[in-house]
Amino acid sequence: MEEKGLQRLDPEIHRAIQAETDRERQTLVMIASENYAGRAVIEAQANLMTNKYAEGYPGARYYGGCEFVDEVERLAVDRAMRLFGAKYANVQPHSGSQANMAVYLAFLKPGDLIMGMDLSHGGHLTHGSPVSFSGMIFRSISYGLDPKSQRIDYDRLRDLARKHKPKMIIAGASAYPRIIDFRRFGEITRENGAYLMADIAHIAGLVAAGLHPSPIGEADFITSTTHKTLRGPRGGLILSRKKYGRELDKGVFPGIQGGPLMHIIAAKAVAFGEALRPEFSDYQKQVLSNAQALADELISFGFDLVSGGTDNHLILIDLKRKRITGKDAESSLGKVGIIVNKNAIPFDKKGPRITSGLRLGTPALTTRGMKEREMRIIAGLINDVLENRNSDKVLRNTRKSVSDLCRGFPIYQYLDEES
Ligand SMILES: *Cc1c(COP(=O)(O)O)cnc(C)c1O
Repeated sequence: MEEKGLQRLDPEIHRAIQAETDRERQTLVMIASENYAGRAVIEAQANLMTNKYAEGYPGARYYGGCEFVDEVERLAVDRAMRLFGAKYANVQPHSGSQANMAVYLAFLKPGDLIMGMDLSHGGHLTHGSPVSFSGMIFRSISYGLDPKSQRIDYDRLRDLARKHKPKMIIAGASAYPRIIDFRRFGEITRENGAYLMADIAHIAGLVAAGLHPSPIGEADFITSTTHKTLRGPRGGLILSRKKYGRELDKGVFPGIQGGPLMHIIAAKAVAFGEALRPEFSDYQKQVLSNAQALADELISFGFDLVSGGTDNHLILIDLKRKRITGKDAESSLGKVGIIVNKNAIPFDKKGPRITSGLRLGTPALTTRGMKEREMRIIAGLINDVLENRNSDKVLRNTRKSVSDLCRGFPIYQYLDEES
C-alpha cells in the first residue's frame, strides 16, 4: 500500500484543500446553512472507520468485526435521543435529503399526496418540488406565506389540508426567519388524519438548546441535518416515536442506503455530545442575538427584510427597493469576502438563478466568537458594498475590513500550531 501522505501523493487535491481551508478562515461565512464544525468533530470524521462495512444496526449487522462501530453508533443514538428528548433516533442517513427520503419510503406509497412549504416561500426541494424525487414519486401541493405578514398562513394551510387530505404534511423550511408553530401544524395534521413530518434541518441547534419550540410530541417524524446550526459533520438524522422505529430503520437500510458512513456517525456522536454541554446553549443564544443585531442594523440602513425581521439564525433581505438582484448582490459581496447566497423571496418575480433576495445567517460567524458589535460593523460593510458596487476603492477598503475582522476572530488555530 502507498504510505505517502496526501501532500506528496496527491498535491493537486492537497492544494485545493489548503486553499479551501484558507478561504474558510479568511472570509466571512454568512451562508445560513453553513457552520464551522469543531476540531473534535473534524478529527472524528477523518478516521479509519471509513473502511468498515456495517450494514444493519448495532447488534444486528450483516458483517463481522462490528463491535467498535456498534459502540459508536449506540453512543450517537443515545446522545441524539437525550439531546432532543426523543424515544427513537436513526443516525445513519447520509444527508438531510436522505433522511426525508427514508421517512417517505417507510410511510408513503408512490402517488400519495404530500403537502410542504412552497420552495419560493422558503421550503426545501425535498418537500415536494417537481425537480426533486419528492415531487416526482409523490403528488404534492404546497402551502405558503401570507403576502402581507410574510409569515406562514396557517388558516390557508388548514383549508388546504381539509380540502386535499394529504397523507403527510411537512413542516420546516430553509429560508424562513420566523418561529414555526409545530403545535398548530400538529392540530391541523391530526384533524385531517395525516402524518406530520417536521424537518428541522436549519433550526436543529436552536431546538436542541430550547430556543425554538420543539416538534417532539407534535410530529410523527422529525428529520434534520447535523451540519447546520447543530455544528456537526455533514449528515442526516431521524427522530421519532418508538412505535415507528422498525419501519424507519427499514426505510433507511435497506430502503435507500447500503453501508452507513461509520466515520461520520462517530463525528455525529461527538457533535451531539458537544451539544449536550451548557456552552452549546450559550452559543445558540449568541447566534440569535447576533441575528437580531444584524437585522436591526440592516433595517437602519434602509434594507427591507422579509417578515420585517427574524426570530432565528437567519435573515432574508428583499432587495427590490435597492434595485439590485440577488445574483449581483451575492457576487459583489463575494468579491470582498462576504460569502452569502442569493435566495428567492416570497412572490419573487425573478427566477431562481437571479432572485430578488439574499439569505444571511449568523451560525458560522458566531462560532468564530463574533458578537453584536461585529454584526453591526458587517451590516455597514454590506451596505457600503451594495451601495457602491462599482467603486473599486470601496471594494478594496471593504476587503481590508473583512480581512481585519477575520484576523481578529481566528478559527481553526490548531492548524497553525501543527504546521
Ligand atoms: C438543508 C436542508 C435539507 C437537506 O439537507 P442536505 O444534507 O443538503 O441533503 C433538508 N431540509 C431542509 C429544510 C434543509 O434546510
